[in-house]
Amino acid sequence: MSEEKASGGCSCGKLRYQISQPPKVVAICHCRSCQLAAGAESVGWAVCASSAFTWLTPEPKYFKSSENVTRSFCGDCGTALSYQANADYIDVTLASFDKPEQFPPKNEVWLKHRISWNPANPNLKSFEEAGS
Ligand SMILES: [Zn+2]
Ligand SMILES: [Zn+2]
Repeated sequence: MSEEKASGGCSCGKLRYQISQPPKVVAICHCRSCQLAAGAESVGWAVCASSAFTWLTPEPKYFKSSENVTRSFCGDCGTALSYQANADYIDVTLASFDKPEQFPPKNEVWLKHRISWNPANPNLKSFEEAGS
């Protein structure tokens, strides 16, 4: 799989991206900021090297969800696509990949913000806050 490229994009097809290396970390995040950004109880992320990530289409809309965090989404259909807190890494929403099965999560982070009716996954390594 290390040679495999993976691609994905938004619901309406206007935005497409590609990664040229497998993600460094794959995690489910329960933080409140992700919940609001996606309108969902948790969000799966592929943490990718920025150098391995490319937009294949015009760039998305950006939103600063906190001082150092920029999230992107499709301005037409609203699909949440990325999260970036520093220049080296870009986190990509797992569900927006064409083959989400490709990158199963290993970690579950920000469990302190977990909504009680959304059970934690006992098969994942759990973190109360950000994982490592
Ligand atoms: Zn779209
Ligand atoms: Zn989060």
